[in-house]
Amino acid sequence: MTKEKIERYRKLGLKMTPQRLAILEYLEGNTSHPSAEDIFRHVEEKFPSMSFATVYNTLEALKEKGLIVELNIEPGKKRFDPNIEPHHHMICERCHRIFDVFEDFPVNLPEKYTKKFKVKRCQVVFYGLCEECQKEE
Ligand code: ZN
Ligand code: MN
Repeated sequence: MTKEKIERYRKLGLKMTPQRLAILEYLEGNTSHPSAEDIFRHVEEKFPSMSFATVYNTLEALKEKGLIVELNIEPGKKRFDPNIEPHHHMICERCHRIFDVFEDFPVNLPEKYTKKFKVKRCQVVFYGLCEECQKEE
């Protein structure tokens, strides 16, 4: 990670410990939508003394600063997305991989709802089977 980036995180009020840096490095450009457990397992390899609480607290801090997005796509398991640009997702119900959908498409909520509710944005989740899992079914 570049010095400029580290400085930017510092300016946002994030304490930059080597452990935090490792978490940030793992998340940077990561498109796998990892859970806190996934992140912990990865960073633990480098920092065996690190606690799960450190990962959890770092993720909470990053979320608060708007640097990552928490996804509640999978029941009972929070996943995290370092890509904060609004986009949709597809989740494979077999292997639980989450894929990004960056294209925009119209989602037309019937008028009876939009009369009373002003929609500002929406995030769609598609549930199904990925290409690899379709082959195995
Ligand atoms: Zn799959
Ligand atoms: Mn995503």
